[in-house]
Amino acid sequence: MKIQLEHRLSSCPPQLRCIACGQTFTVGRVRSLLVNDEDRIQGDLCPKCIRLPADEIRSILAEQVWLMLEQPQLFQHQVESPETLALELFEVALEELEMPSFSQRWMKTLESCLFWNRDKNSVMARAIAASTQPPWHHNY
Ligand SMILES: [Zn+2]
Repeated sequence: MKIQLEHRLSSCPPQLRCIACGQTFTVGRVRSLLVNDEDRIQGDLCPKCIRLPADEIRSILAEQVWLMLEQPQLFQHQVESPETLALELFEVALEELEMPSFSQRWMKTLESCLFWNRDKNSVMARAIAASTQPPWHHNY
């Protein structure tokens, strides 16, 4: 699995539930999506979880799986049944987690400032235009 950085679109609700710790959080400009090895999006990670080492994120995911099986009533509002979700998350927790690098995160945030400001003549727009192809395009 990996963490994919995406710009938050206006269609995205302002508050989301973290797939790992289960906490509701306010989404910033950049979403951190947890994606499994088959490129299926599992959910969003909150700013707190995204700062954790990969191994810790995996163990928090495993705890969520446990909670889903122990207290499925907490997850009844989900589209899929808690059991299906738990199984999927369990498989994800077993996969190696590929974290985005600091520069990837930084560039994505810069990009999203441009995306929101729509100011093509800003200092950052010119700086990014002058740089080479952003590295993240080749990583996924
Ligand atoms: Zn979290």
